[in-house]
Formats: sequence, C-alpha cells, structure tokens
Amino acid sequence: SVTLIGRPNVGKSTLLNVLISEKLSIVSRRPQTTRHRILGILNEPGLQIAFYDTPGFQHKFRNKMNVVMNRTVRNCMNNANVVLFIIDALKWDVSDLKQLEGVPEQVNVFLVINKIDLIDNKNLILPFIDSVKTNYNFSEIVPISALRNNGLKPLINLITNYLDIGEPIFDINCKTNRDKNFYICEFIREKLYLFLGEEIPYKCGVVVEKIDEFDKLSKIKVSIIVDQKNHKGIVIGKNGEMLKKIVSSARLSIEKKFLKKIFLEVWVKVHVGWVDGDANLRDLMS
Ligand code: GDP
Ligand code: MG
Repeated sequence: SVTLIGRPNVGKSTLLNVLISEKLSIVSRRPQTTRHRILGILNEPGLQIAFYDTPGFQHKFRNKMNVVMNRTVRNCMNNANVVLFIIDALKWDVSDLKQLEGVPEQVNVFLVINKIDLIDNKNLILPFIDSVKTNYNFSEIVPISALRNNGLKPLINLITNYLDIGEPIFDINCKTNRDKNFYICEFIREKLYLFLGEEIPYKCGVVVEKIDEFDKLSKIKVSIIVDQKNHKGIVIGKNGEMLKKIVSSARLSIEKKFLKKIFLEVWVKVHVGWVDGDANLRDLMS
C-alpha cells in the first residue's frame, strides 16, 4: 500500500482523487479538512494499488482529536510499502522534516514535488531537486502536477517497483471503503469550510441521523455538532441564511454524486467541548 503525507494544502487529496478518478476526498484551500484516513484503490490490468490519504501530522492544535489523528497517520505509515511525501514546488520548509520523523526506517519515501504547473521558469526545478535531496534519503524524487494530471503515469510506474506482487486484496470493482454516510458528511463539511472559513468548521462534527430511500428521492437527516454555543448562531446565520446556503449547496453535491433527488434536513446542535472530550469522539471520527 501507499500512504500520502505532507503539510496541509500541498495537494494530497487532489492527487488521490485524480489517481482514482473519483471525488473521494474533499479538496479545499483550507488546511486540515481531511480528518479521516481515506482509502482509494487503483485498479489497472494486473495491478492494484491501495492509497491512503491522511490528514498529515497535526502540530498546530493540541487536543484529543489531533492525538487520535496522529495515531492513525502513524499506523498507515507502518503498513506502507511506499510513503509519498508531498510538497509544493520550490517550497521546502524545515518543518517538512518534522513530517518525516514518524516514518519507519524500512519504508521507502518518495519526494513528490507537486504543483509544477505553477512554476513559470522550469529551469528552477532541477536545482531545487538538488538542494532538497540532501535533507533525507529519498528513494525517488518525482515532480508532478496533480491538478493537471501531469507526471502521474511515471509516478505509478515507479511505485510498482516497490510493491509486493500478489493477488488483489480488494474487489477490483471497488474504488473506496467509504459508504454513503461518509460522503454525505464530507460534502457538508466541505460546504462549511467553503462558507465559514477555517476556525469554526474545524470544530464542527457532522453526523448522519437517518436516511430514508424512496424510488425517486432520498430523505437525509443530518446534525452538525458545534463546540461552542455562539457557533450555532454563526452556522445558522441571520434569518437562517447561512445554513440555507450550506444545505442547498451540499444537496446539489450529494445529488450529483448519488444521481438521485435528495431532500436534506440539517439541524445544528451544541455539544460544548466535544473536540476535547472522549465521548462521541469515536462516532464523529470513524
Ligand atoms: P491537501 O490538504 O494536501 O489534501 O491539499 P488539497 O488536495 O486539498 O489541495 C489544496 C489546494 O491545492 C487545492 O486548492 C487544490 O486545487 C490545489 N492543488 C492541488 N494540486 C495542485 C497542482 O498540481 N497545481 C495547482 N496549481 N494547484 C494544485
Ligand atoms: Mg486533504
């Protein structure tokens, strides 16, 4: 298997989505939106690669949620054949080394330099590679543009050199391990980030309470759990305008994904301090 790590916003989720060619993991300009470990499975004739998209190690906030997330990232790493360590083109930061500290020695680490489409002067790329490769014993260094689907074939070819050859582990028609509930939550979280910025959505949990399936439509009931009393009003907005925007935009995304008419009902609930509490944490994270 292959595990993706790297600082927030470098394009891990984008890369996974393009590799698996389906919208599996939410993509956002805001960091730390991937809370879960997401499995994407690439199936090609004679080849199966399991990719795990991780939130990366969280150093910014210290709370229970981040401890759980960091443990998940570490587990993913221990089981990987290859770790793709992704960075923004021409941006190396000393804190990048911190991300690499948790990687076990026997695991092959590729340095994946993403967003090369943003570099006008391509002559700068080779010297950049020369300077960063002294930081760590990388197995391979691969420049790509996930967004433009550039360099991904060579990346996959290189990965296959490091995999164990064997029978496929997953059903070859399967692209992900995530179910309906998961997508519904992710779409709602995506819209929270889109309309409310980073601060409040970071502390919001989303729970699917109920799905009723009918021939022509599905009725979905969802709760958004906020961490502080005053966040409820912000999520709902003046005259409910904010929540209306979030719900209608999420509904469109869900309809597009499930190819079905959706009736979406969303309630906002206050659960003071859930981000730091043990109770409910597992439900909201798993
Ligand atoms: P993650 O936090 O590492 O999962 O990053 P995301 O996949 O959510 O991407 C963060 C932002 O970078 C999004 O706005 C993407 O559209 C953008 N992005 C990702 N890959 C590329 C790329 O190859 N080129 C450019 N120009 N933007 C990219
Ligand atoms: Mg992500």
